[in-house]
Amino acid sequence: MEPERVCADGQSLQRRISGAPATCDIVLPVYNEAANLDELYRQVTAVMAEAGLRYRLLFVDDGSTDATAAVLEELAMRDERVRFLSFTRNFGHQVALTAGLEHADADCVITMDGDLQHPPHLIPELLGRWKDGYSVVLTVREDNRSAPWLKRATSRGFYGVINRVSGLTLTPGSADFRLLDRAVVDALRQCGERTKFLRGLINWAGFRSTSVPYQPSQRFQGKSKYSVGKMAAFAWDGVTAFSALPLRLAFFVGLVISLCSFTYGLYAVAARIFWNASVIPGWASITISVLFLGGLQLIFIGLLGEYLARVFDEVKGRPIYFIKRKVL
Ligand code: UDP
Ligand code: MG
Repeated sequence: MEPERVCADGQSLQRRISGAPATCDIVLPVYNEAANLDELYRQVTAVMAEAGLRYRLLFVDDGSTDATAAVLEELAMRDERVRFLSFTRNFGHQVALTAGLEHADADCVITMDGDLQHPPHLIPELLGRWKDGYSVVLTVREDNRSAPWLKRATSRGFYGVINRVSGLTLTPGSADFRLLDRAVVDALRQCGERTKFLRGLINWAGFRSTSVPYQPSQRFQGKSKYSVGKMAAFAWDGVTAFSALPLRLAFFVGLVISLCSFTYGLYAVAARIFWNASVIPGWASITISVLFLGGLQLIFIGLLGEYLARVFDEVKGRPIYFIKRKVL
């Protein structure tokens, strides 16, 4: 029997009224994770057997070049609850997550990584919170001492900056391991942008949310697919998707520099009149100020370019991924 739900999110509530059992889609983006899939399947199905609701494992093979597709094919043959999409090439983790959400049609959707760093034993707790009426159940990494110091520091810095400039309230350490109610998934689908910064959009959408702390495990097999460059690009996507402050910075910096130079100009005139002295002893000050302003202008033109490139990307309106094989 389906447990009592307090939440009044359209679709899920309709399901409850119609008496059908609740369903759950678990979306797993995987990129070259062949060595992890069997163990992942074993752990997740073991946990879900206890949960007592209908579920599917929806893998998104993000253009893997190892045996991932073959293992998925085999799992899908063996168990009809295993479904998957294979991309034509590697489109990136966030795109794979987006594709998974677009193909999920259950009452709730759980997204988790395919390397077992997101512990499957937490799933019942996520489902429990959902049944308590939360539409979004986030997981938050407890300070992970095994992660490199630099990764923890940059992550903390990123959340500090984005929360300040974007008006979002993102929880530091929140992971892509989360449960979303059907209503939230539908809301995300309505967000038309190509580059979806999911954690920002989920927070921005404003559904009732809670979080569960967890201790991240070590990667089961293989190594991280997130290079420093990919992390930086991800962070920058987040800032530009949710804040126009960098664009406005040029105005404020320009204002401050104008005020300073105006004050300096007044001082130069006064010095000439009252002390009959020239305050410009040579060309060094001129060269430095010209170079400084030139550099500043280039920086801000570059920033304009960043936003323009994003507008260009959106305007082209290309599909964000292509699927070469679909087993749904
Ligand atoms: N991933 C993906 N596409 C990519 C990079 C990663 O689908 O281009 C998947 C990867 O297979 C894993 C998850 O995203 O299931 C998280 O990636 P990873 O474990 O490499 O990142 P980390 O945990 O080190 O941040
Ligand atoms: Mg990982």
